[in-house]
Amino acid sequence: MISVEQALEKILENISVLEVEESPILSCLGQVLAEDVSSTINIPPLDNSAMDGYAVRSADTVGASRKSPRTLRVIGTVTAGSIFPSVVKKGAAVRIMTGAPIPKGADCVVRFEDTDESERKGNSSEVGILTEAVPGLEVRRAGEDITAGSLVLSKGTVIRPAEVGVMASLGLSAVKVIRRPVVAVLATGDEVVDIAKPLPEGKIYNSNTYGLAALVLRYGGVPKILGIAADIEDSLVAKLHLGLDADMLVTSGGVSFGDYDIVRDVLAKEGEIVFWRVRQKPGRPLAFGMIKGTAEGGGVRKIPLFGLAGNPVSAMLNFELFARPALFKMMGREPLAKRTLGAVIDEDIENTDGRRIFARAIVEKRGGQYFARLTGPQGSGVLTSMALANGLVVVPEDTPGVKKGDIVQVMMLDWSEGPE
Ligand code: AMP
Ligand code: MG
Repeated sequence: MISVEQALEKILENISVLEVEESPILSCLGQVLAEDVSSTINIPPLDNSAMDGYAVRSADTVGASRKSPRTLRVIGTVTAGSIFPSVVKKGAAVRIMTGAPIPKGADCVVRFEDTDESERKGNSSEVGILTEAVPGLEVRRAGEDITAGSLVLSKGTVIRPAEVGVMASLGLSAVKVIRRPVVAVLATGDEVVDIAKPLPEGKIYNSNTYGLAALVLRYGGVPKILGIAADIEDSLVAKLHLGLDADMLVTSGGVSFGDYDIVRDVLAKEGEIVFWRVRQKPGRPLAFGMIKGTAEGGGVRKIPLFGLAGNPVSAMLNFELFARPALFKMMGREPLAKRTLGAVIDEDIENTDGRRIFARAIVEKRGGQYFARLTGPQGSGVLTSMALANGLVVVPEDTPGVKKGDIVQVMMLDWSEGPE
């Protein structure tokens, strides 16, 4: 049986980066920029005011103080979005609002608070300046954020909300990105029924499809839900064929030793198995292979298929461990691994059969140290253990286990102190 690392290596060997497409900026969240983005404009475009106040010539304020104000003539008001039509000459001032362009002749802004504006109700033809202003005071310079011609975002950048905002500030409506992978999600099992219907005796709801499709969405892919295949080959093949235009296929169930575990047989017939079973717990019965799919123009192309175990914890966990890095590689995203940290474990975890254990845990930071405690029952059918957990305690395969108080490695599923 291969190790987690060997499995991941074999998977990634079979994955390539997808093509580039042009997309509206708001659709690009989490995607990777496929071009350098430069600016043709200055941002801000003109020198403008950082405050509500008076645009003046600093020379006219020399010696001004509360005791000895300098009285200037108010020649008008300029608001954000408009250009003041005349020049500020010696002894003049223009009322100015935040964001409004600095009128010609003025070289600084004196905030309302540093004038006698509030005492002069109704008399706006003059203003007393109560402080000395230096050139450039409260002025936001043209090009202070971005200068025309400069490189703003480089190819390879992951687009976050801030990048969307920056692109909008340049007036860009669409940009070139690596396209999102379409991931076909198929459940298997005669016992599995779809949600939002009454539950017949002996059946269970299809949680895997929804948990897995949510993971696809979270990591930037587009889920394509194929439904539920019965435990017979014809049904599985027919459903799989509906996903042959996808970039990745993910099935759940039917990959163990049971009489109805047919996913491997179908994978072997429809393509080739790269490996089956990984030395880990839970999630040992993982099958990975390449299926013959349809390419644009009718040719053949190979699509990676992840045959995940049916147990909901195994399915989600193996998506995180193996399908997520594959998805990221397709999207051109780095790093492929989830973040890990060292934490003190608060109970013993025994390793009896030489597999790598991924135990669901809650990680908390107290006094500068991370602590991990298990979520409770660790059965691979206990899906609420995934809902409670924010990390997976990793117990190495070549050890008898870990002891309470040991520092263990935790792979974080959720990480509030950094990006995904
Ligand atoms: P299997 O790998 O097909 O033997 O399934 C292992 C366990 O996972 C069984 O208890 C199944 O009932 C359960 N299971 C399989 N598919 C799903 C699914 N889509 N949603 C929830 N549980 C499932
Ligand atoms: Mg089954």
